Parts: sequence; structure tokens; C-alpha cells
Amino acid sequence: MKVYLGKPRGFCAGVVRAVDVVELALQRYPHPVYVKHQIVHNPYVVKSLEDKGAITVDDVENIPAGSTVVFSAHGSPPEDFERAAERGLNVVDATCPLVTKVHNEARKYARDGRKLVLVGHRGHQEVIGTMGQSEMDLLDNREGSTGPDWPDDTPVTVLTQTTLSVDDTQRAIERIKDRFEDVIVRNDLCYATTNRQATVKQLSGMVELVLVIGAPNSSNCNRLREVAEAYGVDAHLINGPDELDPSWLEGVENVGITSGASTPESLVRAVIEALGTTEVVTIEGAEEDVSFVLPPELRDVDRLEHDQDRVVAGDVTQSVARIPTANDN
Ligand code: SF4
Repeated sequence: MKVYLGKPRGFCAGVVRAVDVVELALQRYPHPVYVKHQIVHNPYVVKSLEDKGAITVDDVENIPAGSTVVFSAHGSPPEDFERAAERGLNVVDATCPLVTKVHNEARKYARDGRKLVLVGHRGHQEVIGTMGQSEMDLLDNREGSTGPDWPDDTPVTVLTQTTLSVDDTQRAIERIKDRFEDVIVRNDLCYATTNRQATVKQLSGMVELVLVIGAPNSSNCNRLREVAEAYGVDAHLINGPDELDPSWLEGVENVGITSGASTPESLVRAVIEALGTTEVVTIEGAEEDVSFVLPPELRDVDRLEHDQDRVVAGDVTQSVARIPTANDN
């Protein structure tokens, strides 16, 4: 069995920062430290932080007055900050700066008197947070919506959820541009989403099966699976090696593996080992060197060391192939 391993994959800068924020809050503040919403959408990451003293809750109302709470990487609506203030909570905000950028855009364009359309998935935590910033219409491509029923000359600004499919989002944007005369497009898909999808497109042409390692409630993981399927290859999203189904592997000699922005690398390695892999070829796409500063209240502490060991254990041949990227132009 030969594995084609996508790179970049796994933790993005926003997830590294969010996990650091919880770890550092656990070091600095009395326990327990509460986390509103899963800090990132991965059960292994959530559990490892809970084992150290974090408690994950879905609602600010479930947090005892005076406690410390970390708000998750996906972003939160202003009401959550207001209710936290009413309860006297010490809030440390781990919202990814690329999501905060979308929040800032929403408020700016609303102040400018433009109507807002958010391309996103209804009910996702990031969408809840962004829609709380100002009045806006949601365009969810899964619902078959054709967009808002406004006059053609309405000034419209289009924002997007950061973790959508690049191709689906472009189609949604084109529909809005066709429909209205004055459209500003802020394509907010983040670098991690774009880079991981570009690599999975390359992988899909080389293999009979793609395995995306990550959680079923992770938006960016689901999009990776869908991209592989759209490129005509069988694809499955699994949390880890326990969810491998041997029937998927019948007649398969080449497997593509990638992981979402909130998936620990240890799970990728565990899947590769469970496959009995004899050769791993890393398919390198865009280089990533993004990192984000900590929230102000934690900036005086040292950043944590992260295990970015990407080496697969065992007697496995490894090599690297680099694919051309937009950065090469
Ligand atoms: S996927 Fe993108 S927007 Fe989301 S946390 Fe990572 S870098 Fe930030």
C-alpha cells in the first residue's frame, strides 16, 4: 500500500493559537477554566484540554459567575460577550484573527450603508458569530437559495465563512454578481482552507481512495472530503484508525491522506501505520509560515512548543514531490 500524503495538512495558525490560549489560561487562572463551544472541532483536542482542567460548555449561562472562560476559535456574537460581562466572567477570546477580520468587515460595510450577504452554512458556530455583528442575509448553497430579494441597484457586500469549498463559494459569488449591479466581494476563505483543498485536488488524481482525517463536525474536513469526491475519487472522513473500514481498501493500491485544520498530526500517523503502508510520498503544495499573536492578556507568557513531528514511524520509504502552486507564478 502506497500513501500519498498531502501537505499542508493539519493544524492551521488559528487552531495552534486557540489551543495555546486554553493551555496558557489553564496555567494562569484558577481551575476550572471554561471553554465556550468546542475550542476547535476535534474531539481529541477537546478531550486533551479537558483532561488538564478545561470544561467545555455550549452557553455562557452555564458558567458560574466570576469564572474564566475562553471563547472558541470560531468567533462569537456580541451578545455572548455582553452576557459574559453581566456574569462577571473573565473572557479570553481565542477567535481566529482571520474570523475577526470578517467581523470587522461586516461592521464596516454595514456602517457604509451597504447590504450584506454572508455565504456560509446555517448553524455553524462561525456563521452564528459573524451574523451577530450586523444585519445580513445568509446564502447557504446547501439550501438551494438564490440570494436575497433586494432591488437590482442595492449596494451589496459579500462576505464568506472561512472554511467553505473554494469552488462552491466562487459559484455563489458569481450568482450574486450576476444578480446585483453594485457588488463588493470580500472572499474570506482562509489560507489554510484554500491550501488544503488545492493539495487534495492534486492527490485525487493520483489515488483510488482519499482519507480525510478529522471530525465529522469540522467544516473544513467535510469540504476536503467533498473536494476529493468532486474530483471523482472515493473519499471518507474518519476520526482515526478505529474508523477504517477494510472494504474501502479492497483493490486499492494508492491512498491519499490529508487532514483538516483542527486534526492532530498523531492521528494521521496512526492511520498511516494502521494501513500497513510500505511507502509514503509527501505531495507538497503551498508553503505555510503563518502564526498569530496571542490575545493581549496572555502576551507576556512564552508560546508553547508544538510537536510538529511529521515523520512516520516504522520501516517505511519516504519521499517528497512538490506540486506547482499559485505562489510559483
Ligand atoms: S481554518 Fe482558517 S479561519 Fe479557521 S482557525 Fe484556521 S486559519 Fe483561522
